[in-house]
Amino acid sequence: MSTQTAVPTVPSFIADRWWSPAEGSSTREVLDATTGEALAHYGADGLDLAAVLEHGRTVGQRALGALTLHERALKLKELAVYLNDRREELYALSNRTGATKGDNQFDIDGGIGVLFTLSSKGRRELPNANVIQDGGIEPLSRDGSFIGTHVYTRIPGVAVQVNAFNFPVWGMLEKFAPAFIAGVPTVVKPATPTGYVTEAAVRLMVESGLLPDGSLQLISGSARGLLDAMDYRDLMAFTGSAATAQGLKAHPNVISGGVRFTAETDSLNAAILGPDAVEGTPEFEAFVKSVVTEMTVKAGQKCTAIRRAIVPETQRAAVARAIGARLDSRVVVGSPQAEGVTMGALASMEQLQDVRSAVEDMVAAGGELAYGSLDAPTVRTASGAEAVVEKGAFMSPVVLTWADAENDVVHSREAFGPVASLIGYTDVADAVRLAARGSGSLVATVCTNDPEVARELTTGIAGHHGRVHLLNRETAKTSTGHGAPVPHLVHGGPGRAGGGEELGGIRSVKHHMQRTALQGSPNLLTAVTGVWQTGADRRIAGSEAFGAEPGAVHPFRKSLAELRIGDALASDLRQVTQEDITAFAQTTGDTFYAHVDQKAAEANPFFPGTVAHGYLLVSWGAGLFVEPAPGPVLANYGLESLRFITPVAAGDSIRITLTAKKITPRVTDEYGEVAWDAIIHNQDDEIVATYDVLTLVEKEDTLYRNWTS
Ligand code: NAP
Repeated sequence: MSTQTAVPTVPSFIADRWWSPAEGSSTREVLDATTGEALAHYGADGLDLAAVLEHGRTVGQRALGALTLHERALKLKELAVYLNDRREELYALSNRTGATKGDNQFDIDGGIGVLFTLSSKGRRELPNANVIQDGGIEPLSRDGSFIGTHVYTRIPGVAVQVNAFNFPVWGMLEKFAPAFIAGVPTVVKPATPTGYVTEAAVRLMVESGLLPDGSLQLISGSARGLLDAMDYRDLMAFTGSAATAQGLKAHPNVISGGVRFTAETDSLNAAILGPDAVEGTPEFEAFVKSVVTEMTVKAGQKCTAIRRAIVPETQRAAVARAIGARLDSRVVVGSPQAEGVTMGALASMEQLQDVRSAVEDMVAAGGELAYGSLDAPTVRTASGAEAVVEKGAFMSPVVLTWADAENDVVHSREAFGPVASLIGYTDVADAVRLAARGSGSLVATVCTNDPEVARELTTGIAGHHGRVHLLNRETAKTSTGHGAPVPHLVHGGPGRAGGGEELGGIRSVKHHMQRTALQGSPNLLTAVTGVWQTGADRRIAGSEAFGAEPGAVHPFRKSLAELRIGDALASDLRQVTQEDITAFAQTTGDTFYAHVDQKAAEANPFFPGTVAHGYLLVSWGAGLFVEPAPGPVLANYGLESLRFITPVAAGDSIRITLTAKKITPRVTDEYGEVAWDAIIHNQDDEIVATYDVLTLVEKEDTLYRNWTS
């Protein structure tokens, strides 16, 4: 700690205003990782943390709640575009953390990529509402008047996101994006050593004018009392070391106060080279490349980096040689500003010291240095000269090779830098056992071209991992890599990795929501979920014989402005003859015996004799519900959940009932999606088929009105 000097203090963004600690209060200094120059001060003394949380719970909840899931998801895309246009500002600052141009692609471009991906997944996979129905309906009474389902609604508090130093932008955005879509305000607490890059990203997000009030607050500096002010309404998403996570998890407000706490912590990730992948195979080459990439991207300061390369014992020396050769030919350590540098500095001198002492412990325990050393390396400086930079947090990549694969230290000590260990296995079962000794990891690579080895290794280790990355000659060029979590898939792992799996995909949005069981009548469940439930009221047009109200309008004549959940159409019956079935068989070529051969069909346990094709019935269904004239319905884009239930024989009749079930106006277009509950009955009111018809419908009936006028 020190008192403030001319070096700027990184401000916090609190209650929609920038905030700095009072003059003279104690602050912590952060240095440029590549030069040791003083860069910034941090201080959060005097910050009323309870008021920060309350601002999110009140102002933030209100402002986010005024938008739907889709509207919030769209804002993320707009934010992504805004940040994308201003990436250079962030790159320049990020260089001072020791990050190279390539590292910035992971952190800054990767973070912006999360916004784009979650924005589009959110609008594709979630309703344009604020309630998400989870799963189907459970009938709870004989007559269908009492039913049950589950719904997700956002949690009523704030998402406090405590992040590690290694990804100041991606680390924030991968958590902010799902919280924002869910409608939960974020309070982000980046790690002090690189928090000035997070602050710059937050500043841009604020300047964009896109953030609703209270939806994002930033605490720059240590905020140790945060959990004291949190309660069951809130969640804390922690990323950092296992030791810090354990301390936080033991807080009374987590143990008995109901704060939802999840952690992404450190992890001794493995990469396993299959027994088939010997020197000279494309897999061997891909494996070596992957280990070197993981050692050097972000100078190995990646929670997902390969720490343990587990290889056939007979290949250990060859792998060590190949990794060494690739490091020699590919890696230039130095200032990120210098031309040709491929690996920058660690984030701070403290971090460098931590990594050095971890390597010393590993060497003392029996690890042999196969590549690199702990001496300060000669590096390429910003001016292009080669020199030892005393105050720069530079380190040579280090490969340790272990004669004893069972040594506890290789399976338990994390060196959070450009360090990897090589251990040998005897057979596949041994490799599985060794990988599991990491006690739960974020990710493992299985590198093999043998399908049986891939199956055996993957099923053996999957229960210990959040992600398994299969690498072979087919994916060597296209894989997104061992160390890069993708926003579509789980990021998190069991055991030592923190026990989480809440990041990645739409599950990350639902992580910020409460799942509630809901019981009641179909009408009230329809009102709450916004989805028509079987048994709820309908306004039926079409055939009065099947319940239509006189004068009711065909729902295909209604734009989204007029259409309501429960608007329906009932058709008349139409009889199916053997001639229809035969003609359909001939025109489509589907002459399966059950449609054309009476005797053979009778022998089939499911059919009374020849029966109509299911697709004939679905096609006729369309003919029975269509409203052929141009109108607001623009297209049919598919069917979902189609089931054929009762077969239809020649002489039977069918009718269809179509009900507007789910209406999803698009925030970016003049139309939206309507899912229609379709049910085909026969003349005896037995259910023949059920499915959802998916259509695109105009918000206002303008296209054809304009065209015809
Ligand atoms: P750290 O020391 O555990 O710090 C992580 C965060 O916790 C920082 O923001 C830190 O703030 C904060 N913090 C520390 N003590 C706290 C307390 N008592 N109360 C509230 N907040 C507290 O970890 P780090 O050194 O930044 O990151 C490196 C570690 O993170 C590595 O072990 C790495 O494996 C792990 N990591 C895991 C993942 C993953 O997704 N699983 C991702 C990245 C990194 P201050 O900086 O202000 O102290």
